[in-house]
Amino acid sequence: MDETGTTGQPPGPGEPDFPAQHAPHPTRLDELDALMVRCRACPRLVAWREEVAVVKRAAFRDQEYWARPVPGFGPADAALAVIGLAPAAHGGNRTGRMFTGDAAGDFLFAALHAVGLASQPTATHAGDGLTLHGVRLASPVRCAPPQNRPTTAERDTCRPWLSAELELLSPGLRVLVVLGGFGWQALLPVLADAGWQLPRPRPAFGHGAQVTLSGTDGREDLRLIGCYHPSQRNTFTGRLTPAMLVDVFREAADLAGLPTTP
Ligand code: SF4
Repeated sequence: MDETGTTGQPPGPGEPDFPAQHAPHPTRLDELDALMVRCRACPRLVAWREEVAVVKRAAFRDQEYWARPVPGFGPADAALAVIGLAPAAHGGNRTGRMFTGDAAGDFLFAALHAVGLASQPTATHAGDGLTLHGVRLASPVRCAPPQNRPTTAERDTCRPWLSAELELLSPGLRVLVVLGGFGWQALLPVLADAGWQLPRPRPAFGHGAQVTLSGTDGREDLRLIGCYHPSQRNTFTGRLTPAMLVDVFREAADLAGLPTTP
């Protein structure tokens, strides 16, 4: 140990400052993803993601769960990013791919496909052939939380992963669709970290809410669009319909300059 009481070694995956110390360094998304999947910085979430993988849901009893942080999904030059909150215990935490293998993902990918942003309307597992066109899916928290609710501390600990991801995407990134108010609240500080100016007062979440954030350091402006989360609570009640989600993605794609199907 040195006089500061530390070993002088970079923090390991189980230490709280592993994301803050390591996330800013990769120069490619695949390098960032490779680091992120080793992260064990949040003890409660690590315990939960691994417990779920042992207990499993009956329908998936024969499957081996991913049980690690879930990296972003989509091309490294995406002009549009879709941001949720965190992976689902039996969805992304099982399949290892964002929104893949749960009901919210079924709703989401059907809408992306309807607009021409996804190669197929379904997403069942990581090797199912699905590709996204100009879109990347990511989240401010990378491990499945109990009750889908990360704590404030977990959200803050995980923030550097998404900050770094958005920074690497920033040369081509023009539009963000943010799914749900929790994701919106979690994302705003990430955007400030990654180099965009937040207006004051901070913009409020709403379905269809839009705000343009000015880029700093030569970064292009970024358009933020709010959208209800495609959780079953919203889709079963009709609060979010397939047509509403298609409309949001079509507008987002137009703003991002991505081609869409009629
Ligand atoms: Fe690491 Fe984020 Fe998972 Fe916490 S939530 S263990 S910071 S990847």
